[in-house]
Amino acid sequence: MAGTPQIRPTATLAPFAKPDRFDPELQTFLEQASARLCQWFATASNRGPLPALSALPDVAPQPQGLSVDALLDDLQLVMEGAYQPSHPGALAHLDPPPLTASIAADLICAGLNNNLLAEELSPSLSRLEREMCRWFAERLGLPLTAGGVAASGGSLSNLMAMVIARQQADLQDDPRAVVLASVDAHVSLAKAIRVMGLASDALQTVPVDQKGCMNLDALEHQLKALRAEGRPCLAVVATAGTTVQGAVDPLVAVAELCRREQVWLHVDGAIGGVFALTAATASVVEGISLADSITVNPQKLLGITKTSSLLLVANQSHLASAFSTGLPYMEPAWGDGHGSEIGLQGTRPAEVLKLWLGLRQLGEQGIQCLLEGAIQRRQSLARQLDASRFILLSGPLHLIACTPKNADAYQASVWSLATRQSLLEQQLMVSRPLHHGRHFLKVVLGNPHTQSIHLNRLATLMNQSLLGLR
Ligand SMILES: *Cc1c(COP(=O)(O)O)cnc(C)c1O
Repeated sequence: MAGTPQIRPTATLAPFAKPDRFDPELQTFLEQASARLCQWFATASNRGPLPALSALPDVAPQPQGLSVDALLDDLQLVMEGAYQPSHPGALAHLDPPPLTASIAADLICAGLNNNLLAEELSPSLSRLEREMCRWFAERLGLPLTAGGVAASGGSLSNLMAMVIARQQADLQDDPRAVVLASVDAHVSLAKAIRVMGLASDALQTVPVDQKGCMNLDALEHQLKALRAEGRPCLAVVATAGTTVQGAVDPLVAVAELCRREQVWLHVDGAIGGVFALTAATASVVEGISLADSITVNPQKLLGITKTSSLLLVANQSHLASAFSTGLPYMEPAWGDGHGSEIGLQGTRPAEVLKLWLGLRQLGEQGIQCLLEGAIQRRQSLARQLDASRFILLSGPLHLIACTPKNADAYQASVWSLATRQSLLEQQLMVSRPLHHGRHFLKVVLGNPHTQSIHLNRLATLMNQSLLGLR
């Protein structure tokens, strides 16, 4: 008679941590994995942001489990092929280097393996998430009734916001309901509309001005036109930090209009929301406190490891109104409610841990430094780009995009491809968005490793790239 089947340990590593004694092999394994990671960071500036072509290890499990060394070597292969956000020239996207405390918290989070689904599966962490959301809500100026929930990314936060807005407007049964957002609003809204079963024209876009900000008169006009048509508007979405330009819609004025028209205001602050955390930078998103709901993504500039997004609501009870099912197979919540009853996700990791520890590591001063540093780098680059020959798009945040003035769409496309490639060869990575029918090169200045020398080189190469156009 065979006893309980045993998983054979790989070399000396047990597949699960021993529950009754300290396991030095486990410690060694984690230390070796950490050492590989530290080495990966240490060599970041030798390689570019993008890896050379690399091999992948086998995906299928072998008949017998691998040894510790084989596991680490497999990991190494994948690491070799990874994007390197810690390279100073990694300037293409909203993906900064990870905060070191966030990395440690992610490891602990995996070890705890708690579940934000229900309070008894994450007693301390459920409370930590609630408190962290309240802290954010308070910082962003929301009322005392406010609260929030963590979500695996801003797309999900935006989707939840739209579901809540629809419910509060009592429009659940009306597929004709409309969402108004600027033409530069994020693509996740289009996805939300599809998932919500709304009409294909439910996302109606409002034009933007020269600076990429929502045109207020147009918004007012569109709201009136909808009313005349008898078509309900479930929410206006203002963007605090658009994807290409980093523009911030006129939040105060939009909020006034929404209040007058009694329409839900969601602020998509996935990029810009964090600027409200310190008094020194809060003015760039003035009016964010007037929102009914806010998306904020600490993963995007603060360096909290992915994913880290919060949906904040001015009235915490709106979360449960939209998402509660009763969760009949769980003990009742004893605190503020089960994590799965205040949001769309069921099982989810305690992403709050790396957010909380990361912010504690930074401190107020560190947060301010990161935010101000990013804005300053954008200003510095903007000063060095040849404004007489580039169309420069920027806002008050840390993004800037440019395209040659004297070029048609085709030439801009050719220029952007060639220039991005030649910049990559110099270990400078920028992105190439198609924006209003024209290719731009976009630089995101959220990387704290980027120094003036990198910005000088980038500006010089960008300015020189225009010579190829003539
Ligand atoms: C990044 C972003 C989102 C989506 O966030 P994800 O975490 O990528 O899902 C939404 N809105 C804006 C403005 C963004 O920049």
